[in-house]
Amino acid sequence: MMKKTVIVLASRNRKKVAELQRLLNQELGEVIELKSLDDVGITDEIEENGTTFAENALIKAEAAAKSGYLGLGDDSGLVVTALDMAPGVYSARYAGVHGDDEANNRLLLENMKGKADRSAAFVCALACAFPDGTVPIRASGAVAGEILCAPRGEGGFGYDPLFWYDPLGKTFAELTQDEKNSISHRGAAVRQFARKFARRMGLVEDED
Ligand code: IMP
Repeated sequence: MMKKTVIVLASRNRKKVAELQRLLNQELGEVIELKSLDDVGITDEIEENGTTFAENALIKAEAAAKSGYLGLGDDSGLVVTALDMAPGVYSARYAGVHGDDEANNRLLLENMKGKADRSAAFVCALACAFPDGTVPIRASGAVAGEILCAPRGEGGFGYDPLFWYDPLGKTFAELTQDEKNSISHRGAAVRQFARKFARRMGLVEDED
């Protein structure tokens, strides 16, 4: 059997590692073994001080590649047209406290009061850095939607209950995990990453 490529995901969240491992296996077969920062003994906080999703993804990827394995970083968030693309890279801490989804959603509704244009998008950037400094692999995905005036649905996380996806007539919080993966910014970014990774690692023939 072919030896798996170890990739360290710049995260300590086991669920996130497991979910991404599942998605990558779906796309590529079992060619990648995903590890967390804790698995490789990286305990330092990674400072996410980039101004774009892509920059933050690369910062995280490079920190994870210090392990000596390939490092994978991801960054995602919500951009809202009427708010000049906020909350953007501050999505997780829009209302001040990192990860306080309820407060973030409340502030978003407050700031959207009276706005006619409710268009928005979720964006996800991925970067894979190599410990020897080879040019990183970058991928991204986005999905367009609209910000509702009140939450709908119990599933998902973050801004999902406020994010209306018109093609399915549901919010992201009303989708199953598989439905969400098939259309989400993260699903799209992972699929693009898998294609680029397969080409870079010689798992498939070059297209050109
Ligand atoms: P991170 O990429 O895990 O740091 O996510 C940043 C923040 O963006 C999250 O805390 C959420 O507030 C928001 N976000 C990113 N992806 C999603 C999503 O799929 N649904 C809802 N919120 C999301």
